[in-house]
Amino acid sequence: MTDVILVLNAGSSSIKFRAYYREGKELGLGLHGQIEGLFSSPHFIAHDKNNEKAGEKSWGDGAKLSHEDGIHYISAFLTTHRGDNRLVAVGHRVVHGGGKFAKSVLATPDVVDELDKLTPLAPLHQPHNLKPIRIIAASRPDLPQVACFDTAFHRAQTEVAQAFALPESITSRGVRRYGFHGLSYEYIAQALPEFSPRAANGRAIVAHLGNGASMCAIEKGRSVASTMGFTAVDGLPMGTRCGSLDPGVLLYLLEELKMDTHAIEDLIYKQSGLLGVSGISGDMRKLLESDAPRARFAIDLYAYRIGREIGSLAAALQGLDALVFTAGIGENSAEIRRRAARHAAWLGIEIDESANEAGGPRISTPSSKVEVWAIPTDEELMIARHTREVVDAQ
Ligand code: AMP
Repeated sequence: MTDVILVLNAGSSSIKFRAYYREGKELGLGLHGQIEGLFSSPHFIAHDKNNEKAGEKSWGDGAKLSHEDGIHYISAFLTTHRGDNRLVAVGHRVVHGGGKFAKSVLATPDVVDELDKLTPLAPLHQPHNLKPIRIIAASRPDLPQVACFDTAFHRAQTEVAQAFALPESITSRGVRRYGFHGLSYEYIAQALPEFSPRAANGRAIVAHLGNGASMCAIEKGRSVASTMGFTAVDGLPMGTRCGSLDPGVLLYLLEELKMDTHAIEDLIYKQSGLLGVSGISGDMRKLLESDAPRARFAIDLYAYRIGREIGSLAAALQGLDALVFTAGIGENSAEIRRRAARHAAWLGIEIDESANEAGGPRISTPSSKVEVWAIPTDEELMIARHTREVVDAQ
């Protein structure tokens, strides 16, 4: 009988799952899949360890499934397909661990209540991340569940790097830079020695460019600075989030345009970034396929902002040995990698065009002063590793 660790990554309208088999020191990926469109047209799909389709179901347009329905469907599916295996723990992606949780933790009811208090810091993610923990605890209180945080990796940063220039009466309430995508950065930091000992032992910038996007300066495997701050809307422009914004713009929206806080939240999280600038889509593939001038402009702005942040993070590191691209856009788009790297050419970055088109992993020329890599991230595997660690320590 093999022990299985289930990883759940629950968002506002989707639940992704991955089952990992403990095989000695390794974690082997087994059944994996997701339910998407929970509240519009729910669709479930699962694949087995060989990536063969293992199950699929659609509930139809207009159907609605709660997170609870979704979790129950996934558990029933896994139970029927589990064979001779034993579920020993569930690991969850939780976006915010606040100032307190600097590493993954057993998600007891008290811990979950405490994490709930961080909801105002990540209103669009935290409640959905916590829901499955409570749902599973209700039917399986004996099953260890582990919360793994997107913020934890960044707690290694200095106090200065985490600070805002605000009065202490405000910062003491927890208003500081937290940084996100930490599970992705930690995975890359652990994978980097295989690709480049020089980068792993030196100074690297990792660009996590997905629907959400941020960059992290990493020195000898530790986070030094990040483009994301108090919330996951700071830093780079993203699919639908605006990224860094002069706070004066928010005052203008409130006072001159009479927008209320809900309208502003909707604007900066859901109507901005690539979608807002292009007026076409927040999906990079669609913009790259488009000839529309606004699509071109959105891509120009995106690449330019990455270039500027590379400069800022290189300054935080006092130099640069490697630049790593990861996540949907970073792993798949040679065009965006090329254009972003062009904005950082002054650092001595030279892209090898054919290696870049081929997808890497190394995409810089041998003479490039800074190595450039395209490396797939694996946040779920990172969650599974943390879950194993926490459970083994009990
Ligand atoms: P993620 O959130 O990591 O799944 O990344 C989603 C983003 O990656 C979307 O903007 C996609 O359009 C983008 N993406 C995925 N594949 C490609 C590709 N081949 N070229 C450009 N963008 C891509």
